Amino acid sequence: MKATPVSDNLIQLNRLGVVNAFLVREDDGFTLVDTTLSGNAGAIVEAAGAAGLPIVRIALTHAHGDHIGSLDALAAALPDAEVLISSRDAILLSGDKTMQEGERGEVKGGFPGAKTKPTRTIEGGERVGSLEAIATPGHTPGHLAFLDTRDRTLYCGDVFSTLFGVYTSARANPLFPLPYFATWDKEIELESAIELRTHEPAALAPGHGPVNIDALEQMDDAIAQSAEVAAKK
Ligand SMILES: [Zn+2]
Repeated sequence: MKATPVSDNLIQLNRLGVVNAFLVREDDGFTLVDTTLSGNAGAIVEAAGAAGLPIVRIALTHAHGDHIGSLDALAAALPDAEVLISSRDAILLSGDKTMQEGERGEVKGGFPGAKTKPTRTIEGGERVGSLEAIATPGHTPGHLAFLDTRDRTLYCGDVFSTLFGVYTSARANPLFPLPYFATWDKEIELESAIELRTHEPAALAPGHGPVNIDALEQMDDAIAQSAEVAAKK
């Protein structure tokens, strides 16, 4: 696990160069955004300890295995930490892939589920410390992004990825197509990417790829290219 301080409020935790979690500094401790793959709880707790604060909250963007993989071990190690996820992805987190009323198609990608239940479910518009949750369905039905209202860093989960270029998950990056193949509904995903752009993030902190400062232009390009793909269908 590689821990990289990006700003005063943010430490990026990266596994194998591919999967991110983030420690977001708050007055009372860290909010951990996502947990990466299984087997990383010890390294995540250690990274927080090395930075001098406990993890007091775990906020999950969505229930895919590469984001919730270390949740059970973290919850065991941090019994007082809050665990937050949308009510929709909480169902997926419980291992239930049943589609809900009004949803088309089927969810894609790996949902190993977890024993851990959220201590609280959250929806778009609600706050998690300095973070504002933004409903961003598409990659999964209950995907959330988190905007740090102090510095406008956007924890965008898998709405955008920045590994080998900035892409929405509505269009396959030939060098890293995983987020695309694991996306439930490309049309809704593109709408969520457009929604996130309207929040004018100062930095993009995605589930996969480096933290991109000044990413607005690249977000515009990624959205335009995704829209082109959608229009051809
Ligand atoms: Zn995902």
